[in-house]
Amino acid sequence: MVDTIVKAEALKAYYITKAYGVERTVKAVDDISIEIKTGEVYGLAGESGCGKSTLLKVLLGDFQPPLTVVEGSVSYQFEGMSKDATKLSEQDKRDIRWNKVSYIPQGSMHVLNPVRRIQDTFHDFITTHKGTTKPQSFEMTQAYLRDLGLPEKVMRSYPHQLSGGMKQRVTIALATILYPKLIFADEPTTALDVVVQRGVIQLLKDIQKKENSTVVLITHDLGVHANLADRIGILYAGKLVEEASTRTILKTPKHPYTQFLINSLPSFDERSAKEGIPGRPPALDHPPSGCRFHPRCPLAIEKCSTVEPPMLELAPGHRAACHLLTDEVNHAAG
Ligand code: SF4
Repeated sequence: MVDTIVKAEALKAYYITKAYGVERTVKAVDDISIEIKTGEVYGLAGESGCGKSTLLKVLLGDFQPPLTVVEGSVSYQFEGMSKDATKLSEQDKRDIRWNKVSYIPQGSMHVLNPVRRIQDTFHDFITTHKGTTKPQSFEMTQAYLRDLGLPEKVMRSYPHQLSGGMKQRVTIALATILYPKLIFADEPTTALDVVVQRGVIQLLKDIQKKENSTVVLITHDLGVHANLADRIGILYAGKLVEEASTRTILKTPKHPYTQFLINSLPSFDERSAKEGIPGRPPALDHPPSGCRFHPRCPLAIEKCSTVEPPMLELAPGHRAACHLLTDEVNHAAG
């Protein structure tokens, strides 16, 4: 049996602000439960504003007010350790971050110090966590970059001497050089052209395979998920609406929103994207009642606007939350 490495249970994370005596609550993550297994690549997908990045911050244990966990928990379980990521002390964060749990932020190529050579940036980073001497850090960096197939000469370069794609690869190498078991990657291929994207995807695949590490990948780009993820969770307006293996999500999506997302992708023989999903995601300070997708859903029935659909298990490893699927589940059970 494959172990669970991170588990979110009934997680609610809201942005709570107060201005001129008026409180505003944005329900960015609203009652989400997910379980991520050791060694898998778990993809989180959905339109902008669906809660992906907020969920990632909470899973990473890196959030501060106004973002507040109002209910639920996130547990890490590895190397004999069990911790609630929503309640990490500053010492826990220092012990865990980068060594055990790492993060590749959005636009991460900008984290490289422009006035330091790459090898010095690596040294600064490694010595902070491992107390290594400069020759030791240098040796570790050289071996790691070689292992990942990155040219050795990048070590002597300044960031401005590297292409955008190479900077991104170097940053990913920096975030993973301490062999973390759990890696969170937020839109790691955004702003890169397709050819460079492929190199970055391959690098992430190689890192994951080498160490059997777990990667939680956030991107709105289902093409990237198709290439990397073993399973995908689809988020809509702060809710998990469907979760299954990547193949199932791409071939036989069951939730109307997932079907829209998949149908709006261009296929190989088409030059342009198909029509997008009508309407816009709702504001999360006043989310729609019932199913949050009902104002945009062409299949909505009466109760969709008043009753929230429960998460249903459609098949082992495949779940979705839609009233229309209730009959399917009852039929299978009966
Ligand atoms: Fe559409 Fe209703 Fe299903 Fe929501 S529950 S996705 S509104 S059919």
